[in-house]
Amino acid sequence: MTGGDQVELAETPDLHGAYPRLSTEQVRALERGGRTRSVEADEVLFRAGDVDPDLVVVLSGAVAVLDGAGPDARLLAIHRSHRFVGELGQVTGRPVAVSAVAREPGEVLMVPVDLLRRLVVDDPQLGDLILRALLIRRSLHIELGAGLRIIGSRYSADTRRLREFAARNRLPHRWIDLETDAEADELVRRLGIEPEETPVAIWRGDQVLRKPSDAELAKAIGLRTPVPPHATCDLLVVGAGPAGLAAAVYGASEGLKTLTIDSVAAGGQAGTSPRIENYLGFPAGVSGSDLADRAIIQARKFGAVLSVPARAAALEQADDGCHVVRLDDGTELVGRAVLIATGVRYRRLDVPNLEDYEGVCVFYAATEVEALTCVADPVVVVGGGNSAGQATVFLATRASRVHLLVRGGDLGRDMSRYLVDRVSRTPNVDVRLHTEVRGVEGRDGHLEAVVAEDTSTGVRDRLPAKALFVFIGAVPYAQWLGDELALDEHGFVRTGADAVQGAGRAEGRGTPPYLLETSRRGVFAAGDVRSGSIKRVASAVGEGAMAVRYVHEHLNGARRSGWGHRPRPRPTISFMISLVPP
Ligand SMILES: Cc1cc2nc3c(=O)[nH]c(=O)nc-3n(C[C@H](O)[C@H](O)[C@H](O)COP(=O)(O)OP(=O)(O)OC[C@H]3O[C@@H](n4cnc5c(N)ncnc54)[C@H](O)[C@@H]3O)c2cc1C
Repeated sequence: MTGGDQVELAETPDLHGAYPRLSTEQVRALERGGRTRSVEADEVLFRAGDVDPDLVVVLSGAVAVLDGAGPDARLLAIHRSHRFVGELGQVTGRPVAVSAVAREPGEVLMVPVDLLRRLVVDDPQLGDLILRALLIRRSLHIELGAGLRIIGSRYSADTRRLREFAARNRLPHRWIDLETDAEADELVRRLGIEPEETPVAIWRGDQVLRKPSDAELAKAIGLRTPVPPHATCDLLVVGAGPAGLAAAVYGASEGLKTLTIDSVAAGGQAGTSPRIENYLGFPAGVSGSDLADRAIIQARKFGAVLSVPARAAALEQADDGCHVVRLDDGTELVGRAVLIATGVRYRRLDVPNLEDYEGVCVFYAATEVEALTCVADPVVVVGGGNSAGQATVFLATRASRVHLLVRGGDLGRDMSRYLVDRVSRTPNVDVRLHTEVRGVEGRDGHLEAVVAEDTSTGVRDRLPAKALFVFIGAVPYAQWLGDELALDEHGFVRTGADAVQGAGRAEGRGTPPYLLETSRRGVFAAGDVRSGSIKRVASAVGEGAMAVRYVHEHLNGARRSGWGHRPRPRPTISFMISLVPP
């Protein structure tokens, strides 16, 4: 729909609070920091890919929200008087995914993003109305597949990687499957793309990226905040899951220059959870992606800088007591203190040929992206913890049947009671206790069945399945630390008294380590990666906040003793990085 006919100009109804109308008082409040101006029909107010464009409040006339550009642009919504036109990117500092174009001459109020960000955190009523609407719009845009386009085969691991990167970063995107989508051939021909150049990502309708890496895609769409090499921050947080994001919020809000990096996306494992129901303060539950977006906005408010994707590859100690984190692209980041919050990843099943299906129909997360590959098909979920339970309940709304395979004899042993009840009440779920996977069967990368054995009888069953979801315990992301820190026998980072037990681990420290300090002075660990941690969002958040307290104590001690401290010209929390020479 691109023409300007009357039907198109009808205002889009409010969908679940996505398009609320502001009251006269609310418009007045925005007028205080905004600028009123007239617009012509077809005038572009912001374009997909713009960073920090003004929020537009329609005063008269009509403004359209479009996906894409030119004659192929798709109409997503029309807004009229006292509706605002904007997108979540305007508060998270990411590029916007859609464009806004005036459809009739009229008047608009342009509200600068700085004011918008202040409002979202300072004015509980108006701020919450706008933030909720923007979060819902982001979900609508994701559902509608607005913004980025990824063209690639469902059997390609690179296609899957790009889709996962987009999903984990909550980038609205549309996947065009080379195997089944009628428009794929036409598009590939029109763009002159050879099969070996796929997958491709198309941004803003005209920018074509052939087989991009995650970093190339992030750079092209403006997702990555550049990190100046050799900059020194007070607190360098590695990993932006709940623990890292909490540390970013507490660190920056308490005046520490805080940089947080993540190899994939902010939100961590929690960001892949369809609904977290046991996190304090959210009685109706909260989706992991909403929780992550809210935390990013909060961290930004205090001046924390987040850089994604940026993968830590090594930790080293500098002569002046600071710590160097080397990224996989060779960039060196320097922190007076470092927090390791890299979490865990799910363990693989030990069955032959599993790798033939991984990333295509064997998954370690259950979000909309994975669910799309098995709509109305049977699937198998393996695991007995909360992640397996949540995945089962979620997938049961998409798949025809979910077989949940649990190694132990009691579903309630590792799974929260509310999830056990939900799983048991869902009619298309088949729970099999004392059951382990013995094999996978399929052809040409398509999974057809999972062979499961009842270990109490030895009887094997062939369960038809189009996808297999594995949640069988976790392996810490700590290999990159090499021998630098003390790890426990499972590879988790030891902290506190536990970190300095055993020979050679005290590293000449005069004082015992703080509770969350590792075997190296000034390096802390929090969340799932920490030895002995409770694997929960709340505990990760709590540890992230606690770690900041110890970072203060460490930095104060360092200042007193004159190491690990470079004088700062003036205190500032507005931007993290200072390039102060040693
Ligand atoms: C599907 C699912 C559902 C869940 N549901 C719940 C629930 O309902 N309630 C609950 O309390 N808990 C739940 N959990 C558990 C909870 O999400 C975790 O305990 C929590 O996310 C741990 O937080 P974290 O910050 O320690 O680590 P993570 O969330 O694992 O985050 C670590 C981050 O570090 C990044 N990283 C890793 N290595 C590097 C590196 N080398 N360089 C840079 N970055 C790196 C990762 O990309 C990741 O983003 C769930 C987990 C899953 C997977």
